[in-house]
Amino acid sequence: MKEQAKASTLNFISAIVAADVKANKNGGRVMTRFPPEPNGYLHIGHAKSICLNFGLAEDFNGICNLRFDDTNPTKEEQEYIDSIMEDVRWLGFDWEDQCYFASDYFEKFYEFAVFLIKKGKAYVDSLSADEIREYRGSLTQPGKESPYRDRSVEENLDLFERMKLGEFPDGTHVLRAKIHMGSGNINMRDPVMYRILHATHHRTGDTWCIYPMYDFAHGQSDSIEGITHSICTLEFEDHRPLYDWFIVELELPCHPQQIEFARLNLTHTIMSKRKLVRLVAEGYVRSWDDPRLPTISGLRRRGFTPGSIRDFCDRIGLAKKDSTVDMALLEHCLREDLNKRAPRVMGVLKPLKVVVENYPEGQMEELDAVNNPEDPGAGSRKVPFARELYIEQDDFMEDPPKKFFRLAPGREVRLRYGYFITCIGVIKNAATGEIQELRCTYDPETRGGNSPDGRKVKATLHWVSAHHSLSAEVRLYTHLFTQENPTAVEQGEDFTAHVNPESLEILENCRVEPSLADAKQESIYQFERLGYFCADRHDCMKGRLVFNRSVTLRDTWARIKKKA
Ligand code: ATP
Ligand code: MG
Repeated sequence: MKEQAKASTLNFISAIVAADVKANKNGGRVMTRFPPEPNGYLHIGHAKSICLNFGLAEDFNGICNLRFDDTNPTKEEQEYIDSIMEDVRWLGFDWEDQCYFASDYFEKFYEFAVFLIKKGKAYVDSLSADEIREYRGSLTQPGKESPYRDRSVEENLDLFERMKLGEFPDGTHVLRAKIHMGSGNINMRDPVMYRILHATHHRTGDTWCIYPMYDFAHGQSDSIEGITHSICTLEFEDHRPLYDWFIVELELPCHPQQIEFARLNLTHTIMSKRKLVRLVAEGYVRSWDDPRLPTISGLRRRGFTPGSIRDFCDRIGLAKKDSTVDMALLEHCLREDLNKRAPRVMGVLKPLKVVVENYPEGQMEELDAVNNPEDPGAGSRKVPFARELYIEQDDFMEDPPKKFFRLAPGREVRLRYGYFITCIGVIKNAATGEIQELRCTYDPETRGGNSPDGRKVKATLHWVSAHHSLSAEVRLYTHLFTQENPTAVEQGEDFTAHVNPESLEILENCRVEPSLADAKQESIYQFERLGYFCADRHDCMKGRLVFNRSVTLRDTWARIKKKA
């Protein structure tokens, strides 16, 4: 184990691996893999698995393969393969030349199947899918043997070959392992190994019309690649005896050790590709990388950084029992990361015009603004101040309640990096009564934000110059689901019942300071007082600024922790 092994991987799995290395199991070699099925985009749950598998390889001088478990031609696509590779790389991991596809092993799997048939450990069954289900029994009832179970080796070999040659339609035969229909573990009741499926595979085309089941592909792929520790989520715990059975019966030289851990669940979102694909297909969100989705590409577009996601995966740790993590923790990790390095700027989301009556018309001056108080090296920039400004509509109240300390008629406040201003008039639309403009005065002595006479103000507002600021579109996001657990639905209801209709708010008339004119796609800023905002990686360009609010400044996680 490398000395600098991170605390992150010092968990129960790391302990197992460390003990194996110490005992010189597998000659001290460590090899893991991340095995996505290319049937959707990766999500934050996958990030946990990626960090774990690549992290172990890193800590133990091992290798982590990227392997696509592409055994289901009807659900899989090249687009998903490309996105998965992009996401893993973006997270900061590198599989070098170790990228594999289960479909590369189809010929081998076929040979393995023939080997088991010859050994009398596999047979062709001709029951229908419904009958197979019925014969399987239940948790309380043992299964029943198929009348085809005792076919001769010759007949099985002949039928299996003809299955491969395409002589039979879908669903007419399957190849099953001959294990034990009375087993207490349903997975061991003669599980299906191969099915007939006349479908075009995205990589093997029409070469095959029989496809191996997950259980007959996954462990064999692991073994072929020389994986030492095959780490998966808890739902595969009951499959482990089968995983081991295939490897033992196939007499494979490499027997990887399957280890399970609890999958990540997050509040207010869902983490299943099957459900995510529906949100995209049915138009609840705009795309797989919609910033409201927990997909890695969605989080990226929202403004999450690889570092914040890896930090999050570190902090949640590994468990043997399922639990749900509060979304607030993920947001906390992002704030921690961005606070240190996001440049501060000023932007006004809902502009209210302010005319500074005693400021000369046509005059402009540049005020010094600090780029990042957390990072002295970040320096400062100039922001233009002029007679006409915008402040946030929310920062003014004509008739303020007791605890409202921001601008109000007759009241003085500070403009950040600027001057003290006092509101002396409110101009309204005669017809609607809507506030259109504030008339203010400024105190020239307060340049930079302090008054020589030491008088205090209770609020500091962000602002921009009306003429010098730039127009921007800002997209605000809240939880995609109104319920903490969206899958807990009433009978007859679907998880989509809890989609939050207000999860996206688009503000088209925002104003931002001119230093953002060249904002590069994916650059992240703190808009003072408002939160962190990321220039949209597709839509933001020169002349059309588009920002996503990544996260607000208020840290609900810090509050939750304090309470606890
Ligand atoms: P989904 O239900 O979202 O489709 P999956 O498990 O079917 O997930 P795979 O593509 O098979 O998706 O997963 C690749 C790897 O990522 C597997 O090893 C799986 O155990 C792991 N993984 C998937 N979801 C999570 C999660 N929520 N937390 C941790 N690991 C996960
Ligand atoms: Mg899966």
